[in-house]
Amino acid sequence: MIESLNKVEVSRSALRNNFMLCRQHAHGVAVMALVKADGYGHGMEECARIFAECGAAAFGVAEVVEGVRLRQAGFTHPIFILAGVLPEFFDALFTYQLTPVLVDDTLIAALSQEAVGRNCEKKVHLKVDAGMGRQGSLLPEVAEIIDKVNSADGLRLEGIMAHFPMADDPVTGNSHQVLADFLQMTGTLEHNKRTHVQLHIANSGGIFFVDGSNLDMVRPGISLYGYAADGSGTLKGLTEEQLIPAMRFVSRVIQVREVPAGTGLGYGHIFTTSRTTRLAVLPVGYEDGYLRALSNRACVLIHGQRAPVVGRVSMNLTLVDITGIKGVQAGDEVVLLGRQDWESITADDIAAWMDTISYEVLCLFGHCNPIVYVD
Ligand SMILES: *Cc1c(COP(=O)(O)O)cnc(C)c1O
Repeated sequence: MIESLNKVEVSRSALRNNFMLCRQHAHGVAVMALVKADGYGHGMEECARIFAECGAAAFGVAEVVEGVRLRQAGFTHPIFILAGVLPEFFDALFTYQLTPVLVDDTLIAALSQEAVGRNCEKKVHLKVDAGMGRQGSLLPEVAEIIDKVNSADGLRLEGIMAHFPMADDPVTGNSHQVLADFLQMTGTLEHNKRTHVQLHIANSGGIFFVDGSNLDMVRPGISLYGYAADGSGTLKGLTEEQLIPAMRFVSRVIQVREVPAGTGLGYGHIFTTSRTTRLAVLPVGYEDGYLRALSNRACVLIHGQRAPVVGRVSMNLTLVDITGIKGVQAGDEVVLLGRQDWESITADDIAAWMDTISYEVLCLFGHCNPIVYVD
């Protein structure tokens, strides 16, 4: 088998460590492991397998096609479709026993009819907008929607969820208000209608930064993959145990060359050498998710040392300055993301160079490259 020069390595032991840490911080409540976006770029099926071994109670994905993939991989856990469904997916919801999260009342009648026609019951969760301002029913509408679900044959309201818009900002974010509003609304319901349903609101930021948000279930995503939601790379209040980034993105040196002072490098000559410069040519570029925005900004690791990207990142080639690093040869490992010896480059570092967040970096690298699992 011929291997690709660029690959994403995912550490199973890091995924396990992170799952355990999330569950511990959520005081042992049920964990819905978020494996949408192909497990944030780490490979959905393998991540789900590891989280299942660790005791995940359920999986969360964005859309139906992902849920079907999980079922086809053999998982029997509840699978939540978090971004909404359309009537054309009803058949799959029943065939693959997926749990839809309803975002308003528009599908209640049709879904009820489908369930009755199939002579079965469909559990549903309801997404409410308790201050996120993105998707779900507004709080004053919720009671009426719940009545509709409760009076619809074949449907059973199993849970109510909301989402935090600023759980990554424990200081000035509105999480405590969102949580209070959500609990106030659901408390009223429980009191008036005696409906007990599962309540869940906490994403990674909720678990680590918003006390009391664990409720009946938590929904970690980014922290399962080793990152703090606030981009800090560390979690306050954690001493010995830490989240461990699960992904490395590695390439190989394809050529070493030396150019004189005054050489313009690559497309547009956006970098000109000021001294005799040794360069490592890397067979990686924006095609592999190593975006052009990283030109003249990023660093990579070679022989455990940082080497700056010089000039434009192109489709399949990138140059790094290795003048200060001895003995570099074609074929040597290059770490674009992750640890090498005692140095490391995190997705938060790369996110800062790209003006984005770790989530986007992980999805990008994972989606553009072959994944191999280690540990
Ligand atoms: C993606 C997602 C999560 C996980 O968020 P993280 O910040 O990655 O922990 C939780 N809940 C919902 C509804 C989501 O869509």
